[in-house]
Amino acid sequence: MTANLLNFDAKGLTDFCIEIGEKPFRAKQLLRWIHQSSVIDFASMSDLAKSLRDKLTDLAVIEAPQVISDHVASDGTRKWLLSVGTENAIETVFIPEVNRGTLCVSSQVGCALACTFCSTGKQGFNRNLTVAEIIGQLWIANKLLREDLRQFSNDISDSERLVSNVVMMGMGEPLANFENVAMALDLMLDDHAYGLSRRRVTVSTSGLVPAMDRLRERCPVALAVSLHASNDALRDHLVPINKKYPIQELLAACRRYLAVAPRDFVTFEYVMLDGINDTALHARELIQLVRDTPCKFNLIPFNSFHGSEYKRSASENIRVFRDILMQAGYVVTVRKTRGGDIAAACGQLAGQVKDRTRRTAAISM
Ligand code: SAH
Ligand code: SF4
Repeated sequence: MTANLLNFDAKGLTDFCIEIGEKPFRAKQLLRWIHQSSVIDFASMSDLAKSLRDKLTDLAVIEAPQVISDHVASDGTRKWLLSVGTENAIETVFIPEVNRGTLCVSSQVGCALACTFCSTGKQGFNRNLTVAEIIGQLWIANKLLREDLRQFSNDISDSERLVSNVVMMGMGEPLANFENVAMALDLMLDDHAYGLSRRRVTVSTSGLVPAMDRLRERCPVALAVSLHASNDALRDHLVPINKKYPIQELLAACRRYLAVAPRDFVTFEYVMLDGINDTALHARELIQLVRDTPCKFNLIPFNSFHGSEYKRSASENIRVFRDILMQAGYVVTVRKTRGGDIAAACGQLAGQVKDRTRRTAAISM
């Protein structure tokens, strides 16, 4: 069977090299060719022996998802729709800023957790992405961004980090696809692949408590938690997984995580829904709720989508809410809505999710 080498992290690739009768250190060379030089043709891997190149051509491929469409918004945000087979597609978004470029990566086709304000959640769930499909998003972004820049300058080296930050905030719940996401994270951090520091890679979770503990042990990157509510009754409604892992359990998991996290705070994401969770009372309740958990807040103005039942909070209400948190001593950012004209904003990613029959099965995790 042909192996897709994008599915392997450093350890997997080392095992593969041993399996085909090669020295383990070949894995490092391969990682650099694949992830830093974006080479898919084994024949071009000039520092590998001809016999190895031939063997790899027979036994392996390097296959990222196919790009179906590529859109750039007026503010420079770029969105790729990627085919992941049988009519399914996922979305990846690149957000250029002055000193960094952030890639928003998807982890599943759809999502089973059905948060009531989320377009991906409304789509239902089809399946987990493979390692190749997750890391493939970074591989594609890196390759295409570099190709674009090289049209203007020849000075762009293979190791230049055009994507300086990754956030697992695209479609899907990353911690519900734990092993594949963890292997993709390993590649993001690996110096022979993307070499990003742990603080520049963020996993966002709706609060799968046992998986947060696993991540802490396996690969503690920066953590963002989708809190979105100041009490359990409200969160049960907005983020239904709260019925299984209520707020106090979630906050305790955040504190355990902080013991090893690359940053000394958790980022709480809080979607601003008009009249639902955005009043001064909610802000005060929130301050009480998190008082023992070192955190920052990221307020996300709700991005509406076709068929959504909520409205975005008025700017004035967001400002008042932010000021109450700031006066209590918290660092608060209000997320700029980027890429709105190409439906690339947070929570608008829809992709194409076919055959949602597995949704009920996936919910029992
Ligand atoms: N499943 C993960 C990560 C993906 S969503 C999670 O839930 O954390 C990334 C962020 O966008 C989450 O905080 C999510 O709650 C938020 N989000 C989802 N739909 C949104 C919408 N319509 N408007 C604004 N933010 C939204
Ligand atoms: Fe899934 Fe996150 Fe959307 Fe909730 S907000 S449905 S967990 S992708």
